[in-house]
Amino acid sequence: MADSFATDVKNELAHAENARACCAASELAGFIRGCGSVTLASPPRGERTGMGLKLATENAAIARRYKALIDEKYGVGARLMVGEAAAGRRSHVYVLSAPPSPKTDAMLAETGIAYMDGGERRLAAGFADRTIKRKCCRKACLRGLFLGAGTVSDPERGYNFEIVLASESAAAAVRRLLNSFTDMHARTRRRRGSHIVYLKNSEQIKDALTLMGAHAQLLKYENVRMLKEIKARANRVNNCDAANMEKSLGAAARQLEAINAIERRDGLDSLPGELIDTALTRIFHPDASLAEIGQLLNPPIGKAAVSARFRRIEEYAIGEG
Ligand SMILES: [Zn+2]
Repeated sequence: MADSFATDVKNELAHAENARACCAASELAGFIRGCGSVTLASPPRGERTGMGLKLATENAAIARRYKALIDEKYGVGARLMVGEAAAGRRSHVYVLSAPPSPKTDAMLAETGIAYMDGGERRLAAGFADRTIKRKCCRKACLRGLFLGAGTVSDPERGYNFEIVLASESAAAAVRRLLNSFTDMHARTRRRRGSHIVYLKNSEQIKDALTLMGAHAQLLKYENVRMLKEIKARANRVNNCDAANMEKSLGAAARQLEAINAIERRDGLDSLPGELIDTALTRIFHPDASLAEIGQLLNPPIGKAAVSARFRRIEEYAIGEG
């Protein structure tokens, strides 16, 4: 089952507004890089060969977003079809296709997916300069990539943000795009034939959500993250208490051992009076802290003085008293 946090982020982004008119083409470029395939269609009789575009997504809101964008901005008249779910998948797959036409050509050229090279139409590898020149466009492109091929873990379960790409060159381009933002350190790795661009750092994932415009989900992410941190801090404090307790129990055990050694060898009577009192108090209160032992003595003494007495007892035990 798909991660519900990732689905929530996608549903929010599927309704995000682009900051400027320039951003729509950049977002579409990202989406096509993420989930599109460009096909060279054989020409109907009397027509030229053209490039068609197919985009597939399991999210209906995403399919509608890009159909609207393609139709309104490029007048393409994209077809939207609902296919059966792939084996083992619960959801449907929505296929958006743009048939070969001068309008589709113009769209592929403006998004930088294809370019003309001496009369030949070619597919570009990375992103066109105009796609990633402005920061607003890079943000939009990242949103398109995420909607096409991204996922993000529920912060309850861990920190992972990734974009899955088909080729190494696409992954390198996406990594460069992500790392063009301040303090972003995306990395790439291979997984079963795919190339993954990923973030593992919770601050950077937070930044990515902000850049894409997932503000409502960012708040949810932050709340979960903060709660987790508070819990972790509380655990550290508890562990620290436990460690201190073990340390003091260790010291008490050592003191008792010394007292026993003296008792077996010379008898406790051989000690000065104040050390006998201190040793007996320890025997009757094996769990007491030094401060508590000090309070049990008559007259009461401070923790440092108790500590000094036990040092002397331990010296007696090894014959140096
Ligand atoms: Zn822009």
